[in-house]
Amino acid sequence: MSLTADHSGTPIAASKVAEAGSRLLSYIARNPGTNRADLVLASGLSRTTVAKRLDEFIRMGMVRETLGVSIGGRPPLELTLSPESGVLLAADIGATHCSLEIADLEGTVLAQDTYAIVIGDGPDAVLQEIDDRFRALLAGLGRPVSAVLAIGIGVPGPVEHLTGTVVRPPIMPGWDGYRVPDFFSERYGAPTLVDNDVNLAALGEYWLRNESAEHLLYVKISTGIGCGIVSGGVLHRGAEGAAGDIGHIRVPGASESICACGNIGCLEAVAGGEAIARSLRELGLTDVYTAKDVTRLAIEGNRLARRAVIDASEKIGQVLASLVSFYNPNAIVIGGPLTELNEELLAGIRTAIYQRALPLATRALRVERSTHSNSVGALGARAMALDFILSPSGVQQLLAR
Ligand SMILES: [Zn+2]
Repeated sequence: MSLTADHSGTPIAASKVAEAGSRLLSYIARNPGTNRADLVLASGLSRTTVAKRLDEFIRMGMVRETLGVSIGGRPPLELTLSPESGVLLAADIGATHCSLEIADLEGTVLAQDTYAIVIGDGPDAVLQEIDDRFRALLAGLGRPVSAVLAIGIGVPGPVEHLTGTVVRPPIMPGWDGYRVPDFFSERYGAPTLVDNDVNLAALGEYWLRNESAEHLLYVKISTGIGCGIVSGGVLHRGAEGAAGDIGHIRVPGASESICACGNIGCLEAVAGGEAIARSLRELGLTDVYTAKDVTRLAIEGNRLARRAVIDASEKIGQVLASLVSFYNPNAIVIGGPLTELNEELLAGIRTAIYQRALPLATRALRVERSTHSNSVGALGARAMALDFILSPSGVQQLLAR
């Protein structure tokens, strides 16, 4: 066996094995119930290589080969990722709530927990409680900590994805510079991936839709406005992880409102939840400070609030129209508290997009609201963890265990 190393220091023979393994496991994950012949065709690998790698995965308990249902003649042998092979842990940390999930590799959610937190308590307290609750859930399932294959974590602030470091988060006091994976890797001995909540919601929404939304924009309208981008089924983070920061795109002709970033006329400063609430206070309404307050008033039938949401949605639509021309997504999914106002919100956004973007870019475009707002972040965190396990580096780590 060659011991020459590639640029990451991995022996080339080992990295080839991991690359082939990654191709096979990824195909099985996306096509559960597939068979050896299809795998050879789809992977472009030789029959011998497929057989060798598969036998190894079956021996490790990662892949299961079972008799399918016969449609006349010998029943086919079907391949799936084994639910017994281990579990994925996912945590979606919000500013005020945290959702936890434990799932197997087939995608079955085995345990869930949602509870209130204060993000400003800092990483030590917040992560310790997550650790305690994960251990309680695992114990309830009768699974040891060693069964954890990977961990996915979402946080409500900017993250350098490569290292999982929180970078200058506006609403997470005490977290700046904290490397989240260090906390979990030490305790679980499993790879830990971290990203911001909007990116993970985008990934979760893609998982709910699959091929029908391979090019998807997820737009979260809350206090601020952010966007997660899925391109060809893969999260697009950009060079520094800042892709999708659409809240600071200038809205042409908008008011000169000053944004938290110091510029004027940013989308967030004229159409974010806080901006809508401020405009309502200027019209004489009281007790309205957040996107949730605006939503409550509009649901109660307050006409000023409904009008303000429609105005804001038109501005958001203007910016999204440019993004549609630039990016040509199949789907735009709108999330955040305002999505309870289905029609007011979506009508303005759709009108602005269809007026401005070209017909070829919009003819198959769906603009819809998130229907799983509360759970889609944890789903995205789990998807990120599984994507890692199925990647060549993930397979490399699995084989080394
Ligand atoms: Zn700004």
